[in-house]
Amino acid sequence: MMKLYLVEHFFSVQGEGRYMGSPSIFLRFGGCNLRCPGFGESWYKGKRILGCDTVRATNQKLFKDCWEEVADYKYLINIIENYLKNISYKPDIVLTGGEPMIYAQNQIFYEMIEWLVENDFRVTIETNSTIAPSFKEFQAYKNVTFAMAVKLSNSGEPKERRIVPDAINRLAKESKNSFFKFTLDQELINKDAQSQIEEICSGFSNEIYCMPLGDNISDLQSNALGVAEFCLKYGYNYSDRLHVRLWNREEKR
Ligand code: SF4
Repeated sequence: MMKLYLVEHFFSVQGEGRYMGSPSIFLRFGGCNLRCPGFGESWYKGKRILGCDTVRATNQKLFKDCWEEVADYKYLINIIENYLKNISYKPDIVLTGGEPMIYAQNQIFYEMIEWLVENDFRVTIETNSTIAPSFKEFQAYKNVTFAMAVKLSNSGEPKERRIVPDAINRLAKESKNSFFKFTLDQELINKDAQSQIEEICSGFSNEIYCMPLGDNISDLQSNALGVAEFCLKYGYNYSDRLHVRLWNREEKR
């Protein structure tokens, strides 16, 4: 069985998409099937890293200290229950990465999904939508909301890697209340963002959210207004990146 890696967990407000502002427990899993070289560069211990906006969840070699192998789903439940001890309500559970759906068929990961669904949590999986589970075989996924962050050309990924029509179709139609979420910058808006989004979403009735590219306040601010105007023009929902507004680049937020 493929090893399951947890990179971090934290309790914060959801910063993006339909449930923006909702108190949420986040579990971030390690590994991704894409690289997204178009998403800029970052530096870590003097090394330049190209692409991806969550490198600690995709670069196991550099960030091995925070990649923890999970051997039992109860370990993950225990993490959640520890957060619950300090509050008197049920927050959302957000499973993110990296790309959590690389673990779609992992027994430990799926046992966690079943437990969450049985215990009536609102579960969102943030996914690049290139991998979909068999909803017939893994029925609990029908009660999960997928935030379908299909990558556009600004990710730098070739189209055939970032757009997998069968996976998008199954996630959009067979899960619960799933929605599209796109990351835009001004250059892409000026170019062909709208036609790329339409090509991906045509034929689906799922809500569409667009949010500005930027993992820091300055980049976010420079893209935000253009994305808001783009949303007004085409009837999409604007999503901010609330965690960046509130905490800038602080980790675990
Ligand atoms: S899909 Fe997301 S996690 Fe994967 S490489 Fe791209 S930005 Fe990083």
